[in-house]
Amino acid sequence: MTTPYVNAKSEAQTYIDSVFEQLKLKYAHQNEFLQAVEEVFVSLVPVFEQHPEYIKNNVLSRIVEPDRIISFRVTWQDDQNNVHVNRGYRVQFSNVVGPYKGGLRFHPTVNESIMKFLAFEQIFKNSLTTLPIGGAKGGSDFDPKGKSNSEIMRFCQAFMTELYRYVGPDVDVPAGDIGVGGREVGYLYGQYKRIRGAHEAGVLTGKQPGYGGSLARKEATGYGLVYFVEEMLQDAKESFLNKTVVVSGSGNVAIYAMEKAQHFGAKVVACSDSNGYIYDPNGIDLKVVKELKEVNGERISNYVNYRPDAVYSEGCSGIWTIPCDIALPCATQNEIDGEAARTLIANGVKVVAEGANMPSNIEAINEFLNNGVLFGPAKAANAGGVATSALEMAQNSSRVYWSFNEVDEKLHDIMKSIYTQCKTAAEKYGYAGNLVVGANIAGFVKVADGLLKEGVY
Ligand code: NDP
Repeated sequence: MTTPYVNAKSEAQTYIDSVFEQLKLKYAHQNEFLQAVEEVFVSLVPVFEQHPEYIKNNVLSRIVEPDRIISFRVTWQDDQNNVHVNRGYRVQFSNVVGPYKGGLRFHPTVNESIMKFLAFEQIFKNSLTTLPIGGAKGGSDFDPKGKSNSEIMRFCQAFMTELYRYVGPDVDVPAGDIGVGGREVGYLYGQYKRIRGAHEAGVLTGKQPGYGGSLARKEATGYGLVYFVEEMLQDAKESFLNKTVVVSGSGNVAIYAMEKAQHFGAKVVACSDSNGYIYDPNGIDLKVVKELKEVNGERISNYVNYRPDAVYSEGCSGIWTIPCDIALPCATQNEIDGEAARTLIANGVKVVAEGANMPSNIEAINEFLNNGVLFGPAKAANAGGVATSALEMAQNSSRVYWSFNEVDEKLHDIMKSIYTQCKTAAEKYGYAGNLVVGANIAGFVKVADGLLKEGVY
């Protein structure tokens, strides 16, 4: 394993290397999962040097193997009565800190490796929120694009007909992710309620307000990302004011990251979808983006019909050639490679913070860290969504609703606390300023200590 952040070769390093080697042999084809594990492992050497009990109790081997992986057939009928079959997954990775918690992704690229990488990341992200939630992820290779509302509803119902027996408010609490928003969560919850015959609102989060959902959940990941970057900037005696920002994606996370960045006085000049990106030198008109993506489900290319000064370019990766002060990747995994990172750096980027999960590959992360770019890793920077999901669970349990401002204030405080935890852990273990190491260590230690307290099982 390459060790870009740490140099020591020690018993700790040998132990970590050996667990990773075994994992590579066992799951040779699960590239995304191995990448996510490697990114965490390289940060942990200083922790294992100070905690020999983690080695003695083989904590790493226990943490990298999911508690269970549920995989099931989902059969549904389209509007022409044709029968289709998809694969459904739920990876329940760890419930050391609390009930399994993590979103559902509906996208044709979904497979076991992607589910495992996302669930693995989720363990440490959820631990960082300081709220009592474990790590999980799920989804299906179902492609929602081009499907009618009735088809989406029937698919969600078929998916929950299989999943319901494995989830529950104190067991496992799914939510949304790519391709799963408030509408899908509503259909999933409706089916769960029908089967169980009980109103267990806490079984799913991301429900729509008025139907058990929390205000500010829709905005939470994007707003939380910007609150996290605000902390990074404040430490560098900077702010969002008049900064040029590029955001990839134009889905839930991207839209609300743009909204809050604009609110803080930044100029957002570009965003994208899976076909291409738009550059608007006058600053993105978010009303147009919301109308296109949230209301009409159109392609981002149509933006230029409303803003003639904007330019549309085919392909996703070109967005990173646009000069900016702050880059916020908010689309999907591995969208920034080493080359894209070098281009961003050459064009003067000062801050990169991840709204998506694992959008930067390991080479890109090293480029940012080695070139003085402030880098906010996903498991810390995008934790605002799941943190607000946990606030939704709290509201559901106590049968109360908080106002938008109450939730938003709690979210803001949580993001500040996550930043402080990452910064403090990095300093404590000798990597001041390295939030990747800080996030991995702060997230990991809580889970490892919990595991030891539970005993071997
Ligand atoms: P959405 O489905 O709402 O939006 C995803 C967006 O990314 C769409 O605009 C999509 O375009 C675009 N996209 C997909 N692939 C690419 C690509 N290769 N290049 C450029 N754009 C692309 O998902 P979310 O906004 O919810 O999720 C985005 C990311 O954030 C994911 O990594 C997710 O795991 C992560 N995340 C989400 C959270 C949440 O609360 N929603 C919480 C924490 C993390 P198109 O419309 O063409 O598909």
